[in-house]
Amino acid sequence: MSYDEVEIEDMEWNEELQAFTYPCPCGDLFQITKEDLRLGEEIARCPSCSLFITVVYNPEDFTDRPDKSKKTPAQPSPVAEIGKVEALDVQ
Ligand SMILES: [Zn+2]
Repeated sequence: MSYDEVEIEDMEWNEELQAFTYPCPCGDLFQITKEDLRLGEEIARCPSCSLFITVVYNPEDFTDRPDKSKKTPAQPSPVAEIGKVEALDVQ
């Protein structure tokens, strides 16, 4: 049985550990990495004791979705498009 349920929003990103952390009553930190989350893992464990928490999160926030994660490619500016069309009309 998990010690607690914690929303991912309430956890803290730890740059050093490269993991989301949450204070454990033993004084250490529950930890779960982004990779774990991507794999659907929802248990954050404390490395110093046997406790663990269930992390509540939306798996879609951590799933690789090329369509969404890529930055939108630069669109040709509408002004340039209009200019091109006008140039063609002139001919
Ligand atoms: Zn602990």
